[in-house]
Amino acid sequence: MLFYRAGSLAFRQAVRHTYKNCTFAPGFSGSFWTRLDPTANSYQSMKIVTILGARPQFIKASVVSYALSQHDGIQEVVVHTGQHFDRNMSQLFFEEMRIPEPAYQLGIHGLPHGALTGRMMERVEEILMHEQPDWVLVYGDTDSTLAGALAAKKLHLRVAHVEAGLRSYNEAMPEEINRILTDRISDLLFCPSEAAANQLRNEGRLADGARIVMSGDVMKDAAARFAPLMKAPAAALPDRYILCTFHRAENVDNPQTLKQLLYALELTCNTLPVVCPLHPHTRKSMEAIGYPIEKSPIRFIEPVGYLEMLYLLDHSALVMTDSGGLQKEAYYTRKYCVTMRNETEWTELAGCGYNHVVGTEPMNILQTVQNLIDVPPVFPIALYGDGHAAEIIAQTIAATIGPVA
Ligand code: UDP
Repeated sequence: MLFYRAGSLAFRQAVRHTYKNCTFAPGFSGSFWTRLDPTANSYQSMKIVTILGARPQFIKASVVSYALSQHDGIQEVVVHTGQHFDRNMSQLFFEEMRIPEPAYQLGIHGLPHGALTGRMMERVEEILMHEQPDWVLVYGDTDSTLAGALAAKKLHLRVAHVEAGLRSYNEAMPEEINRILTDRISDLLFCPSEAAANQLRNEGRLADGARIVMSGDVMKDAAARFAPLMKAPAAALPDRYILCTFHRAENVDNPQTLKQLLYALELTCNTLPVVCPLHPHTRKSMEAIGYPIEKSPIRFIEPVGYLEMLYLLDHSALVMTDSGGLQKEAYYTRKYCVTMRNETEWTELAGCGYNHVVGTEPMNILQTVQNLIDVPPVFPIALYGDGHAAEIIAQTIAATIGPVA
């Protein structure tokens, strides 16, 4: 008679072989079989399939995957949809941040939202049917998030969403649709703030049987974990500079808004040099309007890895961005932030005066930068948890065998 370690690949293969002609009840999960396994003793095992595909998700997963790896019996299978695929938007993060190598690389990118999401769903569904995980873990608000959550839910698999409950209340943003729908079908909702948790309570998610956990922000964990490893980027930097990133569709897909933002940044260069790691999507949009990237007063550099980004943040005088992640990282590194959008889902930062949400009008942007540039950094209010979000998430998931309470 053969004995398998509960939850091991061999064990799962044996289970699949034994039951390959059975019709599993909706919600079938490996943990059910594991609990029946006489070799298991008190050892419980669990398989998690993590779906990711975009840069901010790699950063979030780096700390959560590490926390999961600290729990005996948890097997994590990483699926990379391919949404971001350049080396410096993807592989670099896996190497520098020691994220588990994806077991599946789907290579799906460069398509309109519907096609992208649809093709991802198709492939993710196949993988989930094969892997039969106990949990499907998704992060943030990209098309990969929604595709993973939807594919899982339609197979009656349980979905855990990290960074749940955020709302910009701007449904023109693709991210907002992805957030709302993913939150609506997730069983475990990990919120970075009380406001996010309240949002989900108000939307009735508790009554639906979902579980809402105020974990704090995993990016706070990442900023603290990787800060000692920060390193200077290859590009030469001015002594004092403003760090800028922008890539939101509503800013760069509309040529008028893009020109307005570029004008605002050029004006800002007269106050302090602006260093801008250039997102590939933004580069494409700038090339489409014929903007002379090489001749610009804005110092565009190639996208950098997270360790270099932490250095750039640490040495900057101020942050200008339309990125969700950067708004928080500015705060974690004690820099004021000027957000070039009309709204933010990270409302606490704006409420505390740490983040100034100014829209895209060049004179508003310039005026705000000039008002903030010499203000001493004072950030007394602690936001987004205590820096142990990843551990809370891993522990909560590890403690779930059977249906979510
Ligand atoms: N980031 C990076 N290198 C760069 C630009 C950004 O590592 O060249 C990091 C940044 O520090 C943050 C994350 O990428 O952690 C933000 O990702 P992005 O702006 O693409 O997405 P968003 O946060 O807006 O969803």
